[in-house]
Amino acid sequence: MNASEIFEIESRHTSGLYTKQPIIFVRGQGASLWDIDGVEYLDCASGHGVANLGHAHPKVAAALAYQSTRLITLFETFYNDQRAALMQKMGTLVPGLDRVFFCNSGTESVEAAIKFARISTGRPGIVAAMRAFHGRTMGSLSATYNKKYREGFEPLVPGYTHVPYNNIEALEKIVNDQTAAVLLEPVQGEGGVYIADPAYIQAARRICDQHGALLIVDEVQSGFGRTGKWFAVQHSAVTPDLLCCAKSLAGGVPMGAVLIGQAVKNLVPGVHGSTFGGNPLSCAAAVAALSAIEEEDLPTQAAEKGAYLVEKIRAINAPLVREVRGLGLMVGIEMKQKVQPYLKTLQERHILALNAGLTVIRLLPPLVITYEQIDHLIATLAEVLTSDPVISPTE
Ligand SMILES: *Cc1c(COP(=O)(O)O)cnc(C)c1O
Repeated sequence: MNASEIFEIESRHTSGLYTKQPIIFVRGQGASLWDIDGVEYLDCASGHGVANLGHAHPKVAAALAYQSTRLITLFETFYNDQRAALMQKMGTLVPGLDRVFFCNSGTESVEAAIKFARISTGRPGIVAAMRAFHGRTMGSLSATYNKKYREGFEPLVPGYTHVPYNNIEALEKIVNDQTAAVLLEPVQGEGGVYIADPAYIQAARRICDQHGALLIVDEVQSGFGRTGKWFAVQHSAVTPDLLCCAKSLAGGVPMGAVLIGQAVKNLVPGVHGSTFGGNPLSCAAAVAALSAIEEEDLPTQAAEKGAYLVEKIRAINAPLVREVRGLGLMVGIEMKQKVQPYLKTLQERHILALNAGLTVIRLLPPLVITYEQIDHLIATLAEVLTSDPVISPTE
């Protein structure tokens, strides 16, 4: 299939849900992607934080190849060697969270955590934060804040309230004996790369304990080394009751999971489930991905590279930059104007980056990005952020 055929077919048959970019990617390695003409791009989007390990990680590829010839699918009613290996690993990542539920995506992991909180406490209330993003299925969407995602889908699930992020008083006021759970992202990703104060997460823990509510953290984007620790909640030294993860869990293969603490009760057969959840193929990929994160010490790499990147971006001192925020390699550059034209200019210079809302450039490079690639990113940002962006007539 040639390029024009690919454009034509996808354009004709797409659901229409995605803003398409006119580039065809066919290959990736580490932090690089190559288009169909062999042009190399630096990927600072990682598929919204999926490719923490980089593209086509050899360990993940080998695990997939091997497992695909042994056993691809098996419902969780039966036991399996790969699933057991993954449970053993995941059950020790966060001390106190030693049970795990497997699903296939981020929104499913949040959906499951919300159901677990309601069945465990027998209460309806879910308290989430303003600017939060938790996914697009009805239960998760009800916790997502931005109108852009919610409008047109009402009525959403009842029992949800939203409070300002990083505001302890607001949490104290809203949590009561009808609250099943407080649901928070330790770093808000889609919402603009806002980092929780450790004191805020600690207060959320205390307030939940006072009222018998559960603390759910959504680490779908911030997990698996991204912020410089295995999970971003560990910057606050807090143990949540439920921890949602997905995105980079299985090295790019679709998989989600919820880590479950002792306070979560009533998880008995039939209460919840997933046909594909815990399938041996995804489990084998995740086992390989987690051992690669450990062997390459990606959390430490993310911490060091992230600190370097943020320092260098701050030093650019572009007049239109309002603030640079970052924790590990989860970095936001807040501009005084809309960022879409800047993202377009970066893309024309073969760097892929993301927005987070209208005015924040979000960088989520693979944690294996090299210092040479980071320096190239910084040099390009220095040019792009200090010059007038290309504004196309359609924008
Ligand atoms: C991406 C994301 C989700 C949703 O994940 P999907 O796999 O797209 O359903 C949920 N929460 C957070 C914090 C995310 O970044």
